[in-house]
Amino acid sequence: MSDIVAPRIVIVGASLAGVHAAQAIRRAGSDATITLIGDETDQPYDRPPLSKQYLAGEWDADKLALRPSKDPESLGVDWRLGTDAVGLDLDTRTVRTLSMADGADEIGFDGLVIATGARARRLPGTEGVTDLHVVRSKADSDRLRAAVDDRGGPIAVIGAGFIGGEVAATFRSQGHDVVMIEAADAPLTRVLDAEAGMLVAERHRAEGVDVRLGVGVEGFEIDDHGDHQHVRGVRLGDGSVVEARTVVVGIGAIPNTEWLGGSGLELDNGVRADSTCLAAPGVVVAGDVANWDHPRYGRSMRVEQWDNGVDQGGYAGRRLLADLAGEPAPEPFGPVPWFWSDQYDWKIQFAGVSGPTKETVHGDPAEGRFAQLYLDVDGAPCGVLAVNRPRHAIKGRQALTAGASVEEIRDTLA
Ligand SMILES: Cc1cc2nc3c(=O)[nH]c(=O)nc-3n(C[C@H](O)[C@H](O)[C@H](O)COP(=O)(O)OP(=O)(O)OC[C@H]3O[C@@H](n4cnc5c(N)ncnc54)[C@H](O)[C@@H]3O)c2cc1C
Repeated sequence: MSDIVAPRIVIVGASLAGVHAAQAIRRAGSDATITLIGDETDQPYDRPPLSKQYLAGEWDADKLALRPSKDPESLGVDWRLGTDAVGLDLDTRTVRTLSMADGADEIGFDGLVIATGARARRLPGTEGVTDLHVVRSKADSDRLRAAVDDRGGPIAVIGAGFIGGEVAATFRSQGHDVVMIEAADAPLTRVLDAEAGMLVAERHRAEGVDVRLGVGVEGFEIDDHGDHQHVRGVRLGDGSVVEARTVVVGIGAIPNTEWLGGSGLELDNGVRADSTCLAAPGVVVAGDVANWDHPRYGRSMRVEQWDNGVDQGGYAGRRLLADLAGEPAPEPFGPVPWFWSDQYDWKIQFAGVSGPTKETVHGDPAEGRFAQLYLDVDGAPCGVLAVNRPRHAIKGRQALTAGASVEEIRDTLA
């Protein structure tokens, strides 16, 4: 056993994974001092509604609060919000911080949780182009809402991934003209497959969204009013120009690792960690920034999904306590990934990972209520997609977790 009695734990990233790490540490009965550092000034909040109910104006900000942080005192942490972590020194075991309120500081730790998430990827070369939006933070969602309220449509959504699709659905449902532009031949091919992506594209078309596939963005048409500029349209690679007064860019996310440069941690599509989320002695990672060796799939994975933020945050907190106490590591962290996306009346849920083949095991895609089973290269079940079939999604995840056979999953989901 280590002689650390009440370890000093620093958590960088005061959002989903970081807060759940803090909660797990407290639930384990630890008397560690916990410093929770986050660069946003808001109390931690949930991001999924930012492209859905909150963007639509159906939810107010109070409803976004993350459950464990609704009563900030209850976590028993030293909150350092509005504070950037700008450097990590593993030799002296300190995190360097910078904040408007306190200036530069150094915070020592025995154990560190890295949960700095990811930020929205921007279109290269668009710095200074006005009326371009991303949706990652509450402030982004507020700005986008205000811009659309101010200028109205048409709205161009660049990128038909989940966030692009949700933003398009939110504004189209409110009667705005929406164009969705995707460079790939089908939406969602990074996560699902082309056939499933096309079902989603057709759902958008049925609602009246102008979906342009297989075409990239060349530039923007700008109205120059002297003292200010406004976007008028988006120039596409096929020579066409789509009219747009507001542009939303949803082309993926980049893990926030810059502050860890030179720290000695391996930075490769996030922070690399072993199968127990340990990146270095006394240093664990969790959430969108973590690229860990996933024991179930035998490869490293970075998962940008809400459930993973919750589960991996909790796991990382417990893993850190075991490491600090010199106790054996818990079982490796190997859940079946899981996410959902809401677009119009479609609740899309996906458990596991996509594979080269799939079959419909329940319902009819044409009716918008179905479950499909993905098989990996060896023909083993690896993913379950459920649209408007939440019970099938849950059962599918359970079956994948249990390692059920193709026949068993067919029976379960029939
Ligand atoms: C608009 C939107 C909709 C989504 N919808 C869904 C959905 O429907 N279903 C689903 O499964 N998932 C969804 N997600 C994904 C889910 O929200 C993320 O997986 C989750 O937020 C990850 O949590 P995290 O704590 O790892 O990272 P984040 O939530 O990104 O939090 C990281 C925090 O660290 C802060 N930070 C970064 N760098 C520093 C630094 N150097 N110093 C201090 N603080 C720093 C960041 O500002 C942020 O507050 C959505 C995400 C977005 C943005």
